Amino acid sequence: MSSFRFQVVGDAFKKQPVEVATPKERPSEYFGKYVFNKAKMYKYLPKKVYDKMMNVIDNGAPLDRATADQVAAGMKQWAMELGVTHCTHWFQPLTDTTAEKHDAFVEHDWKGGMIEEFEGKSLVQQEPDASSFPSGGIRSTFEARGYSAWDPTSPVFVMGDTLMIPTVFISYTGEALDYKTPLLKALRAVDKAATDVCQYFDPKVTKVISNLGWEQEYFLIDEGLYSARPDLLLTGRTLMGHSSAKDQQMDDHYFANIPMRVSAFMRDLEINALELGIPCKTRHNEVAPNQFELAPIFEETNLAVDHNMLIMSLMKKVARKHGFRCLLHEKPFDGVNGSGKHNNWSLSTNTGVLLHAPGKDDLSNLRFVTFIVETLMGVYRHNGLLKASIMSATNAHRLGANEAPPAIVSSFLGRQLTEVLDHLENSTDDSIDISGKAGLKLDIPSIPELLIDNTDRNRTSPFAFTGNRFEFRAVGSEANCASAMIALNAAVAEALISFKERVDALIAKGTDKHAAIISVLRDDIKTCKPIRFDGNGYSDEWVEEAERRGLDVEKSCPIIFDRYLDEASVEMFEKLNIMTLKELEARNEIKWETYTKKIQIEARIFGDLSINHIIPQVVSYQTKLAQNVAALKMILSEEEFKDTAASNLKLISEISQRVKTIEDGVQALVDARKVANKITDEREKAIAYHDNVEPMMEEIRYHIDKLETKVDDEVWTLPKYREMLFIR
Ligand code: ADP
Ligand code: MG
Repeated sequence: MSSFRFQVVGDAFKKQPVEVATPKERPSEYFGKYVFNKAKMYKYLPKKVYDKMMNVIDNGAPLDRATADQVAAGMKQWAMELGVTHCTHWFQPLTDTTAEKHDAFVEHDWKGGMIEEFEGKSLVQQEPDASSFPSGGIRSTFEARGYSAWDPTSPVFVMGDTLMIPTVFISYTGEALDYKTPLLKALRAVDKAATDVCQYFDPKVTKVISNLGWEQEYFLIDEGLYSARPDLLLTGRTLMGHSSAKDQQMDDHYFANIPMRVSAFMRDLEINALELGIPCKTRHNEVAPNQFELAPIFEETNLAVDHNMLIMSLMKKVARKHGFRCLLHEKPFDGVNGSGKHNNWSLSTNTGVLLHAPGKDDLSNLRFVTFIVETLMGVYRHNGLLKASIMSATNAHRLGANEAPPAIVSSFLGRQLTEVLDHLENSTDDSIDISGKAGLKLDIPSIPELLIDNTDRNRTSPFAFTGNRFEFRAVGSEANCASAMIALNAAVAEALISFKERVDALIAKGTDKHAAIISVLRDDIKTCKPIRFDGNGYSDEWVEEAERRGLDVEKSCPIIFDRYLDEASVEMFEKLNIMTLKELEARNEIKWETYTKKIQIEARIFGDLSINHIIPQVVSYQTKLAQNVAALKMILSEEEFKDTAASNLKLISEISQRVKTIEDGVQALVDARKVANKITDEREKAIAYHDNVEPMMEEIRYHIDKLETKVDDEVWTLPKYREMLFIR
């Protein structure tokens, strides 16, 4: 019965390492080869057009049609030299993936032939039928029009034979149907608010840039084993499977030597990514077996988000070339580390970094403290919203488990910064002393002095300061980073605006600027103190303490989504012109609907596997046991039979009981789904799936996993954890 499983496991073991790609050039030479970046624009566009484009890209100047036509002509020439035949608008609908619809570069020449054509209008705008993308009811199907429009701040690139044009995606009535639109608006808001505050300290600052450096975690699994796990195939995670005797308890995978097949994959992936202008830097083994990480050098947030979306699809493609499947789900395997995507976030200006201490002088130290405190104010005020921004049916498996940040947003600052803020809060002395990196001498003369960062680390903190940036660690591996970045940049923008209003009010009353800033900071340090937490975020005491502090401690995913519709959230998004109430409501409908669908699919495949994989194989083994018992009865005396058959009889009855529990459980699961499906309100339906459907699967799984350890390995059809996690 299990021959298929044995075959795929055998094949997976036999697979030879694939050939390692070896480019002849150095990365600096092929970096951005397939990107229409500034250098390419300079080469392919007339000087005047190039200058106009720089103004569009760097200063957000509007793009006129004549310029777009000329840009399109240059782009077409470059792309055709690379053998490109098609183009597509590439956008990020609310599905956690990207969308594209390819059009060939051809038109009738009206002489019976064809010409290659690509005009400015195809570059700037397209009208993909939007009716099958989630819209949360903004756009009813009879008005199916949606528009995609070019985002010139993210460069066009080539994938295979196609010119890919990053775009926003909006409805006929102007509402955003994607992640990019509100992200660009949030980035504009934080730029404006932060630039205004920077003016207190340095009039040369005219622009503030939000940066993002993501760290992408993922699992690799042999493709044969993957294909033998219908649950992985349909849901991205294993819904059943007993833990492997050995998994991550020896800590022998983290940072270990990278397996050959994996290293060939990584190399191939990096070459592809570098050619697309993604500045890959770090790669290593992660905590769980078969888990890995990739991190590029940080970039401007909008570009970094696009690059993350691109790398996720690239990872999946390249993995298949190497006989792997890449798992981006936050929790593909129960009991081992899940995957996240740390979002390293910072602000910098046209003249330098903003979140870096120590500064050159008192004023830059004060600026540094201002930005730290106002970031904390934003995170404090919107801690529930920030949690909602990273919450999903899949990430819910990570949050709150002892492996990832808890389901409470708090911030870790480290000893030195904590002392600085405490000092400012409690003293009347207005000076700020921030010493630099201290030297640490090892008593080994041949090893140079180490520079110790002025922050220590806290792995349990969801929002930790790490020297020159905050690390938002709760983001899920599968998520579009834009969701977290919209909430964070908006929250910080709002805090900075409020800060400036209060400082200006004091200045207007005659207070000196420096004193006014310190005075507002002092208030804010007190106000946002509850968000600061340097202790163990995994402990139960923290949950109680956080609740006392008034932080959001809700754990249920569908209820956490409510935070988007809180008065404070709506007010912030509307005031900053990032999203309207209508858009927020529509997006929440989509979140609830997506949540429900994900659990619904899981429950369906879980029921199928229970009934048509697990029970038949278990019953066939039970029959074998029964035959053995019957045979023993015939040849043994009553006394001997009692002794010899006892364990088999016990197992026969255990199997019967567990099979019954599974059957009843699956029936109850189906019934619970039926009840939930009748609910028409999306929020209520998602809550029903969360409260009544999902927990049932956990209960049934327990019995399946127990049976896995009891029945003959031969009859088990699904690849086991010990096989999936250790084959490379
Ligand atoms: P970690 O030790 O946290 O795992 P990594 O080296 O894996 O660190 O990743 C750190 C990420 O943080 C990289 O993407 C890096 O480019 C990014 N980063 C570094 N400095 C900044 C900064 N000032 N702003 C934003 N991101 C940054
Ligand atoms: Mg990190």
